[in-house]
Amino acid sequence: MVLPGKEPVVAQVASIAVECGDCGRNRWWRPDQLKRFGVTGNTPLSALSGRIVCSACRAEGLPGATIAIQAAFIDDRQRLRSEARMLNDREVSVEGSRRA
Ligand SMILES: [Zn+2]
Repeated sequence: MVLPGKEPVVAQVASIAVECGDCGRNRWWRPDQLKRFGVTGNTPLSALSGRIVCSACRAEGLPGATIAIQAAFIDDRQRLRSEARMLNDREVSVEGSRRA
């Protein structure tokens, strides 16, 4: 739920989708998985794209900072959980074909 005039923070979301504009990788994170980026429950969602970098791009020497954030709010958890599962399945197949 996003209240007008109040910026949503990480504590309000169930999961966060991070899509890399450079390599196209897309995956869902739980907020507690973002602690290593310095993200806490009080971090505004608008600040996430400045903190998170694409580890796959960094590993290849690219900036990996062209990040798009999509948040699944806790209130919508049921609906968005199924979307997250679908995205994860797709990610697995993409990475598998890259490795092959
Ligand atoms: Zn990337």
